[in-house]
Amino acid sequence: TYIVNENCINCKYTDCVEVCPVDCFYEGENMLVIHPDECIDCGVCEPECPPEAILPDSEPEATKWLDLNRDMSEIW
Ligand code: SF4
Repeated sequence: TYIVNENCINCKYTDCVEVCPVDCFYEGENMLVIHPDECIDCGVCEPECPPEAILPDSEPEATKWLDLNRDMSEIW
């Protein structure tokens, strides 16, 4: 799965949302998040993100964002 990190905060681009084939982006309080169980790992959104806030959970840096992405996509 892919996740969104803090680089997304206050970013106004939604290019990622538009390209996602399964619509698994959700709007959190101040950033977008990806529902990790709905993401099909296609990777299409990653290059569309100007602040480079989208990364695969295989990146060590992504681990701490995984729960937050799941929690926020279920709340909002
Ligand atoms: Fe959507 Fe693909 Fe990005 Fe997952 S990797 S959020 S399925 S565009």
